[in-house]
Amino acid sequence: MLDLTPKEITKRKALRINPAKTCQPIGAMYASLGIHGCLPHSHGSQGCCAYHRSHLTRHYKEPIMAATSSFTEGAAVFGGGANLRQALKTMFTVYDPEVVAVHTTCLSETIGDDLPSLIKKAAEDGIIPKGKTVIHTNTPSFVGSHVTGFSNMTRSMVRYFSRENGETRELINIIPGYVEPSDMREIKRLSAEMGIKSVVFPDTSDVLDAPQRGRLELYPKGGVTTKELRDTGEAAATLALGGFASEDAAIELERKCGVSYELLDLPIGISATDRFIQAAIDITGKEPPASITDDRGRVVDIMTDMLQYLYGRKVALFGDPDHLISMTEFVKDLGMKPVHVITGTPGKKFERRIKALLKDTVPDVNVRSAADLFLMHQWIKNSPVDLLIGNVYGKYIARAEDIPFVRFGFPILDRIGHSYFPTVGYAGAMRLLEKMVGAILDRKDRDDPDEHFELVM
Ligand code: SF4
Repeated sequence: MLDLTPKEITKRKALRINPAKTCQPIGAMYASLGIHGCLPHSHGSQGCCAYHRSHLTRHYKEPIMAATSSFTEGAAVFGGGANLRQALKTMFTVYDPEVVAVHTTCLSETIGDDLPSLIKKAAEDGIIPKGKTVIHTNTPSFVGSHVTGFSNMTRSMVRYFSRENGETRELINIIPGYVEPSDMREIKRLSAEMGIKSVVFPDTSDVLDAPQRGRLELYPKGGVTTKELRDTGEAAATLALGGFASEDAAIELERKCGVSYELLDLPIGISATDRFIQAAIDITGKEPPASITDDRGRVVDIMTDMLQYLYGRKVALFGDPDHLISMTEFVKDLGMKPVHVITGTPGKKFERRIKALLKDTVPDVNVRSAADLFLMHQWIKNSPVDLLIGNVYGKYIARAEDIPFVRFGFPILDRIGHSYFPTVGYAGAMRLLEKMVGAILDRKDRDDPDEHFELVM
């Protein structure tokens, strides 16, 4: 399928082929679903909303609810204000959400619709019922990526809800980053086991991994509540996990309510999880319980046992920057060599961070932000790898170059499990190890001659 990708790399300026990202509103829509009782609303044409919903539906295998301002030619010329007012009336009358979270699209951004004014006028005119909230964020997809959209909507949660009343509660805000519902659940579990009373926002656990109950639940039981979001302004501190997806909201919370924050990497892999647990120790002054230290010990045990299969293997990784920073560190900890690393999300700080992580082990790493999978494929053709790690789009490269492939990140459209089993924390590290070792040994079994085809590893 990708047989025609040339090995020779020519400089490209204004062309992306298979970018390693998707559009901003998808991230905003996903973040919105992490508010309890929230109906995401796409202020643009139906096509954008249909694409964003279907992309999330295919990844989570859950029906994604979202409304649209349904722009036609008239809105494109005169603006989408009238469409938004009509949409708000319909949503509150028919679907009765607690919160409507509006994000823009390329079209409404190009028109320049002034959402704060439109929302204010709708409230003044009684279109937004008392006790209900409409929030918004701007998500022009011609800049940034889905990670930017997630970050923007999370920051809007702070802008609209967080309040301070001069009191500080025994409460820690945790902004989990653009991770799976399973990861958010695991972050909550780890925090609770460490004795931290936390508000995790957004929180898509019990929304996008909700059980089958035999009836449609428009608003599943999960999601951070509006009360919890208001309380974030009175928290003692914020832990922001992942600089690209979470730091802007933490900065806004500090600016608005004076809640200081600590920025951590996503707790993926052993080192980043250690730092997350250390931050929890610093907050509570308590040592971790045996359930956590035992899990850590199990990760170390698997790492030690499997070192012979992982050590020195060359790896190519692509995906979202916060995931990649932690994952690159993890594969380095496993003795592997991450030689090619690509994200589609713009940001030179990503490149600096990856280079700093690998300066002693892979000083000549190929790393690029705002990049595409075409370049990744060319890098692999020039310098082959033993393992490819990334989202579903990597399967084309894996097939073309016959490389073991581990699905990790967003989106994964052709497998299940990611929304149910975490990759964060020590439990997540075990799962990632299982997947990496499994992929490498499956390949070994396939390639070994009969005399080396082992029953026991
Ligand atoms: S027009 Fe913009 S917002 Fe809509 S799907 Fe395309 S990139 Fe995304």
